[in-house]
Amino acid sequence: MYIVQIASECAPVIKAGGLGDVVYGLSRELGIRGHGVEIILPKYDCMRYDHIWGLHNAYRDLEVPWDGGAITCSVDCGWVHGQLCFFIEPHSSDNFFNRGCYYGCLDDHLRFAFFSKAALEFLYRTNKRPDIIHCHDWQTGLVPVMLYEIYKHHGMENQRVCYTIHNFKHQGIAGANVLTATGLYREEYYYDRDRLRDDGNETALNFMKGGIVYSNFVNTVSPHHAWEARFTDVGCGLGYTLHKQQHKFGGILNGIDYNVWNPEVDPYIPYHYSKDDLEEKAKNKKALRERLWLNHVNKPIICFIGRLDDQKGVHLVHHAIYYTLNRVAQFVLLGSATEPGINTHFSHEKQHLNDNADCHLEIGFNEELAHLIYAGADMIIVPSNYEPCGLTQMIGLKYGTVPIVRGVGGLVNTVFDRDYDQNKPPEERNGYVFYQTDYQAMESAIDRAIDLWYKSPKEFRKLVLQGMKYDYSWKHPGDQYVGIYDHIRHK
Ligand code: ADP
Repeated sequence: MYIVQIASECAPVIKAGGLGDVVYGLSRELGIRGHGVEIILPKYDCMRYDHIWGLHNAYRDLEVPWDGGAITCSVDCGWVHGQLCFFIEPHSSDNFFNRGCYYGCLDDHLRFAFFSKAALEFLYRTNKRPDIIHCHDWQTGLVPVMLYEIYKHHGMENQRVCYTIHNFKHQGIAGANVLTATGLYREEYYYDRDRLRDDGNETALNFMKGGIVYSNFVNTVSPHHAWEARFTDVGCGLGYTLHKQQHKFGGILNGIDYNVWNPEVDPYIPYHYSKDDLEEKAKNKKALRERLWLNHVNKPIICFIGRLDDQKGVHLVHHAIYYTLNRVAQFVLLGSATEPGINTHFSHEKQHLNDNADCHLEIGFNEELAHLIYAGADMIIVPSNYEPCGLTQMIGLKYGTVPIVRGVGGLVNTVFDRDYDQNKPPEERNGYVFYQTDYQAMESAIDRAIDLWYKSPKEFRKLVLQGMKYDYSWKHPGDQYVGIYDHIRHK
């Protein structure tokens, strides 16, 4: 099959979170299976150019119809760790992708509506006719809309779209001007509850809703989150649409790329290890302590790695730091804040804890350090308010770092409580799970983990090994996506 991914991220060249990992990991898996895969991305000024090989111009003067006129783009092409990527660069005073950031601009809806249009125009002009176009999140929600309403009439009637939702919170809300800009026009037609009109705001259009309505198959990134999205408030207003489209909606658990996330080969960690030579993990713990100036003492290290965002349960993260220190353990945090308020808060905490040699808070995004933390810590805490899939707990498992998680979304599908899980036999349990959002619930899970570490090291080691045995690679999700592509291709 010929598959084109259209996305706003692809790790490690463009990565704000799990979306980047998934676009890269899934593409790689599909390539290994013999499918032809290409990835279309915006050419951001701030992406990691050092991860692109052979970047060269692939198409000059791509005229993308926009706002009654056109914006000229060039398209560059290069390989990101073996994956063929096309980077679209518009030349206009809007400077859509020269902002020093991936997201967070007031005109994000226009930036990504333009990107979606440009990606389709590029396929159309270059006569690329993939069997499957795979789009991701709100940023590319308009791709299936424009494919069906515009490009289908220009010879692109055989392309099928799979649309993956990684986060329901951000849906891409816009006004009627986006219809004029993209050439969709026909306000009355699109301001319809069963097309693009937002369910919460009748004057707004919703990109993600368009993606759901117009795609041939829609999924979110874990089976439990697919259920939550339909039946609880984490669907963020899209429950009605998902209900109407339930025949083509499901949940597929993300995978982890074990070429990137694997302590046996990880180039960012000083000592490689596997479940057969776990002793080497202790050397990484020592290296982590040296790197972060932590005390070398007989204490477990609990870590948190993630965006510091309301989604991630920041109040619980904050509490976990102090609770862990009180429980005679060490804490390492690596977090990038998405809001200035949260950033200031954690920067203050960092100052406050500066002299504490049992604790290190690193504010910012640091891919290399993340690898060392996964390898050096004993436990990883994921106290999310909601979590569509969650990668950090799966990476933690692979690195023998025991997850302590809140039982929501994909965390429910991947972590099984050592003491209480009803569905797994004791030898298949791999971590700790709590459910409520109050401090006590999390504290009791942390207590159980720390107690096991101090009082029953052999049992703790057993738990670590049980976690490392899990296979959360792309093998299984790869099968599922190929099954879906095949299904929609033959419809
Ligand atoms: P989300 O997509 O909601 O951000 P996921 O758990 O799905 O969360 O994916 C998070 C990914 O981003 C993981 O690969 C994690 O290691 C990485 N990550 C998150 N925050 C940071 C950070 N501050 N520095 C380095 N890597 C980070």
